[in-house]
Amino acid sequence: MSKPEVAIPGSPVVPKMVGPEHVIQFSCHKGIGCWNACCSNIDISLTPYDIIRMKKRLGISSTEFLREYTVPHEMEKDGIAGVKFRPVDNGTACRFMKAEGCSVYEDRPTACRYYPVALLSMRKQDEYTDTESYALVKEDHCKGHEVARRVTIADYRKEQGVEEYDELARGWRQLILKKKSAGPAIGAPSLKSRQLFFMACYDIDTFHDFVESEAFGKLFKLPAEEKAMLMADDVELMQFAFRFLKQVLFGENTIALDEAAAKERVEKWRARQMQIEREAAERLAKLEEGMYEDTDECVENEGSCSRD
Ligand code: SF4
Ligand code: SF4
Repeated sequence: MSKPEVAIPGSPVVPKMVGPEHVIQFSCHKGIGCWNACCSNIDISLTPYDIIRMKKRLGISSTEFLREYTVPHEMEKDGIAGVKFRPVDNGTACRFMKAEGCSVYEDRPTACRYYPVALLSMRKQDEYTDTESYALVKEDHCKGHEVARRVTIADYRKEQGVEEYDELARGWRQLILKKKSAGPAIGAPSLKSRQLFFMACYDIDTFHDFVESEAFGKLFKLPAEEKAMLMADDVELMQFAFRFLKQVLFGENTIALDEAAAKERVEKWRARQMQIEREAAERLAKLEEGMYEDTDECVENEGSCSRD
């Protein structure tokens, strides 16, 4: 399963992809000389499930959590919205780091659980499911690699409670891989679709209001029982958000549409497109008219214009 990779200069990622049975030597425990070093200089991307766990832990809405504790970023120039932890003001440390360790340990994000292992998800264009492999992150400050404890990556994932986190982020990872493997043929997503992706993936409380709205109910035919279940459970709603995005971004229809409302929507969209084209043509005509008027003046006033 292991395969040589090209080393990235200065990167702490060991350039070798390995499988779940690969054995690593690592242990992290209170009292180790580098305690908290990894949380003092963070670059942590969050998954949708990480956000649900964190906002629940802090007793705030996803909108508040995003505003207070995160910064948005673009993932690998693919026009895909991502979210990272915002460090402390004027510093690089995690806001949840305390002298005794992580203050949100039971709900810490996926990246914190995985460290010093990195998850690499890949999907080939002609394959629907993604394949997962791993790489080791070796940073000079981390003394955990010097502790003589050997463990397979599979057991380490179990020990750190990563399996549940990965399972619940699968739909999100598939969306990202789908966009990446679609390549430039699909082009950069519109601002509207990026906003929709951000809301559905990261701001679950706003997505909740959206699904509950009259406009959503008019367009999508959700059985009352299913809707009630989604409205009561953030994790179910998050899985539904991934389905919803697959439908609106990639045309993978799994949510029934109200045919009449969908037709009305398409007609409205066409009418709007025609209006935009008409307005653009009018603006162009006015611009050309203005150009010729200027040129006529030039002929009359200067007598030296080269126009025939
Ligand atoms: S959430 Fe906890 S483990 Fe993760 S960087 Fe912050 S303090 Fe460290
Ligand atoms: S051993 Fe590594 S992971 Fe553990 S506290 Fe030290 S730097 Fe962080």
